[in-house]
Amino acid sequence: MNAIKQYHIDNGYKFVVVESKSDRYVARSIHHDGGCQWRLRASFSKIQSQWEIKKIDVQHSCLSTNLSADHVNLDSTHIASMVLTSVKANPSVRIKSLIAEIKNLYGYTIIYRKGWLGKQKALALAFGNWEQSYNDLPRWLEAVKESNPGTIVQLLLLVWLMVFKTAYEMKQPIVQAKLSIMRSEFKQAFSWIDRIPLEKWTQAYDGGKRYGHMTTNLAKCINFVLKGARSLPISALVKATFEEKNMVS
Ligand SMILES: [Zn+2]
Repeated sequence: MNAIKQYHIDNGYKFVVVESKSDRYVARSIHHDGGCQWRLRASFSKIQSQWEIKKIDVQHSCLSTNLSADHVNLDSTHIASMVLTSVKANPSVRIKSLIAEIKNLYGYTIIYRKGWLGKQKALALAFGNWEQSYNDLPRWLEAVKESNPGTIVQLLLLVWLMVFKTAYEMKQPIVQAKLSIMRSEFKQAFSWIDRIPLEKWTQAYDGGKRYGHMTTNLAKCINFVLKGARSLPISALVKATFEEKNMVS
């Protein structure tokens, strides 16, 4: 599919998918109704254990379109594979830079939304699914709690859990309510967290627009808390566990 997309992107043609099954893939020219007979059939070969293009009916007879505009077959999945290296090297890379990178390499200026989606998919590919990592958190916190009984441990774990829950809260008033509870209950930890602007680590304040930045800054936020708790032996344990689980890049 990447090869088909790349051919169309490079040459300015466009296709639509007619059939997409686990063992069969058919695409045809977007200008089929205008008379372009280009059609491609691919199937999954069980013997070769790979996809094979079986048949391509004629060349595109439609006119290739403007190479500088966005391209319908340049979708976010394809963009993710294009920008994966950049995103891996710098998870907070700006969408603008990624758009420029694609423009340089392929000549297309993609729309912001596609760049954003592509970056999210690249982040998931590079660092695993963040949301899943956070969903797993309560389970391993429970395990740590069992093996390390003690009030300081429990207090720290509680702070972390609340920070995570706050980060993913969608409503601003609820975020404020949680923050004020945390501020009064965990003064020390919060002198650190309050140094990071809300729009950098909470979904409610970044409008979901900068999810990628949020997750990177959330990681920074955790590191701030860890820094604040440096003197406590538990921080090393928790940090090691975090790294092992690939939750902090
Ligand atoms: Zn065509």
